[in-house]
Amino acid sequence: MSPIHDTLVVGAGVSGLAYAHARGPSADLVVLDAERQAGGLVRTERTGTARQFRYELGPESLRFEIKGGLTDMLAELQLAAHKPPGDAAQRFLVYRAKLHPAPLGPRMITTPMISFAGKLRLLAEPFQDPKVGNDGSVADFVRHRIGREGLAALLDPLVSGIHAGDPEQLSMRACFPRLVELVETHGGLFKALFKTRGDPAPSVMKPEGGCQAVTDALATRLGDKLRLSTSVSALEFDGTTWRVHSSRGVLEARRLVLAVSCQAAARLLATVAPELARAIGSIQSDNVVSYTHVWPRERVGHRLDGFGYLVASREKMNHLGTLFSSSIAPDACPRSHVVLRTLLGGARKSELIDASEGDLAEIVRREVGPMLELRGEPECVVVQRWRATLPRFDLAHPERLRAIERAQPPGLELLGNWLYGIGVNHLVAHARERAHAVARTA
Ligand SMILES: Cc1cc2nc3c(=O)[nH]c(=O)nc-3n(C[C@H](O)[C@H](O)[C@H](O)COP(=O)(O)OP(=O)(O)OC[C@H]3O[C@@H](n4cnc5c(N)ncnc54)[C@H](O)[C@@H]3O)c2cc1C
Repeated sequence: MSPIHDTLVVGAGVSGLAYAHARGPSADLVVLDAERQAGGLVRTERTGTARQFRYELGPESLRFEIKGGLTDMLAELQLAAHKPPGDAAQRFLVYRAKLHPAPLGPRMITTPMISFAGKLRLLAEPFQDPKVGNDGSVADFVRHRIGREGLAALLDPLVSGIHAGDPEQLSMRACFPRLVELVETHGGLFKALFKTRGDPAPSVMKPEGGCQAVTDALATRLGDKLRLSTSVSALEFDGTTWRVHSSRGVLEARRLVLAVSCQAAARLLATVAPELARAIGSIQSDNVVSYTHVWPRERVGHRLDGFGYLVASREKMNHLGTLFSSSIAPDACPRSHVVLRTLLGGARKSELIDASEGDLAEIVRREVGPMLELRGEPECVVVQRWRATLPRFDLAHPERLRAIERAQPPGLELLGNWLYGIGVNHLVAHARERAHAVARTA
């Protein structure tokens, strides 16, 4: 039996890695992961005869706040990240099967996506009660603040893009806490925009070499504290010490950090903390399919002068949107080609997780093809099926979080995308905050 460690971290996705890194090099800590490679959902790969095309299977880009969290972590790792060049920051939305620039700012007035009455309703946002709609669904909040058309045209595609979920089923406070806070603090969204104009804004950026460069750098720094191909099967807790049964033997620690998916956390906690396991196990997760397609540039008519586009559910399409991956990161492939990534599934079309590669190709050909003016066949296709991967922050989530916090045994820390946010920026900020809390109490 090895000595009792201070901390064992189960899960070397970005949450577990960021936590371990923030505990500092002197921490007596071991990180275990079942896979042969660290990073969890963060995966950057290559395809093509000379592996000349780089693409992402998980996150495409990361959101950097002005300071703290991810921004500080990247500085510590001495990694660079870049904003998409020039026009590539532009987002498109689909309206009547055509791409339109997202109607943000003054474009809201001119966009054909919202009727005249819908625009008037949108402009009435500052007069809506800032206390109404904040604790209901995303759809309730948006309908109250900017009306039905604003929901259908603007928020519905955004929700599909981030949460792959249904705005009627998702909790506003759990999915978009910052927007609720802005309304509660400033009295409305337009008022908040006006009062915070000129404040430095967060930016969406791509780490140099792809998103996996971040988890690779974290893993390298951990050295032999990271044990891969080590699956944890059971936990025991005697009130002071956690015993972790893994495929490579039993380890003990005073502190256990579970940084795994909600399904894995619920399974591992079932005997040691049944009430907590039940609360975590009640989280539903959505499927998503990532369909990467690489094209010779001359076979693509659209300029791809943007980040990508999202599809509102009223368009009745099968896919959620397409990222213009090689516009976001021009070094992802030679200039002769473009890399596109279409996302399908989510709560809208969950069953597509089992669609054959041929059926997925047909959806892309029929729906994406005309909008991006794709001609002929792609040069390479890579399909990744993420089954039950995106946790659904449904209306029960705020109460569930309170139950999880109440039922947590001493010495246990929970991290992951099923708690307070899905984005890597949220996960890193949360992991670092918990790691720094240990240092404060030491
Ligand atoms: C298609 C897609 C696109 C996305 N796009 C973005 C984006 O653009 N921007 C963004 O910020 N976020 C994005 N996300 C979300 C983000 O990638 C995830 O929320 C985040 O990577 C989750 O990290 P994690 O460490 O919490 O969990 P995970 O990455 O799931 O890591 C958990 C780890 O635990 C390990 N594990 C599980 N069970 C055990 C066990 N029993 N024993 C040992 N190890 C175990 C797993 O092997 C895994 O490595 C996207 C996600 C997907 C799927």
